[in-house]
Amino acid sequence: MPLLGIDVGGTNLRGAIVDESGKVLSSHEERTPIDDVALLVDAIDEIVSKLHRDAGCSASACGIGFPGIIDSSQGLVFYSPNLPNFVDLALSELLCDRLGIDVYLGNDANLAALGEMWLGAGSDKSSFVHITLGTGLGSGLIINRKPFWGGSGYAAELGHLTVQPDGEICACGKRGCLEAYCSASGLCSRALRCRSDGIASQMWDMMGDDDSRLNPQLIDQAALNGDALACRLLSEAGKYLGIAMAALCDTCGIHVALLGGRMVNMKFDIIKVARDEANERSLLARTREFSVEKAALGDMAGCIGAVRYALDCSVG
Ligand SMILES: [Zn+2]
Repeated sequence: MPLLGIDVGGTNLRGAIVDESGKVLSSHEERTPIDDVALLVDAIDEIVSKLHRDAGCSASACGIGFPGIIDSSQGLVFYSPNLPNFVDLALSELLCDRLGIDVYLGNDANLAALGEMWLGAGSDKSSFVHITLGTGLGSGLIINRKPFWGGSGYAAELGHLTVQPDGEICACGKRGCLEAYCSASGLCSRALRCRSDGIASQMWDMMGDDDSRLNPQLIDQAALNGDALACRLLSEAGKYLGIAMAALCDTCGIHVALLGGRMVNMKFDIIKVARDEANERSLLARTREFSVEKAALGDMAGCIGAVRYALDCSVG
């Protein structure tokens, strides 16, 4: 029987029906309703109806990825820095009642890693970290072909690892998190603060009077034009990512990172900067070099991982 995968992102809500071999039978994407639980459940219900119609069949179970701290065993969302209106939410139960099928909840980044292990760039790898550079920075660990969610059940929050104790304020409220340097939101916040501090950059002319035009692609273009500030922001993003990867390599013995998300396709080679930094800082990298590759599934990694998770849970 086909299964349903839902990926709730800070910006986009995606869904897909996928069969047990991994073939995508239907998929759909729209903006995430971020204000209210009832609106989110309604939106998911509508997407599911559309997916069933397009696929011409019904799913037997649903996996769903949600950003933030999740208790998978209870189907609960505790807290989400990028979706702050969803706190202590029994999401699995709400959706199970609405959709009439079993619903299995996991952290979105952990499920994306599972998707890459099943059908993506991790399909031939034993252990790796999968990192998505999107609005925030999500990460999931696969160790010996198994997802590693840790003692608490929601491990691998690399985005909120402190990489600079006195550094930038993160969306989570802490100081110096990796996400505050190496994510779309982190990069843009840093650039705007530099503008307030009076630092010169061609980015300000490129944006005109519209701050919403600032994004990693604009920063990338400025760096390509030789803009010193844009080059510094991107190179620091890669450097801090490398520092986090080195810590992961030395604590978990992971030597491979798969990078997904829009920032991976920038002209500025953030992958090389991160890889060089990780290899310089990690002790274990002296025995085997740390490698960083692009992930393969793009925006579908979360949905496909959610389906894999539902498949694993429903067969026990
Ligand atoms: Zn943080």
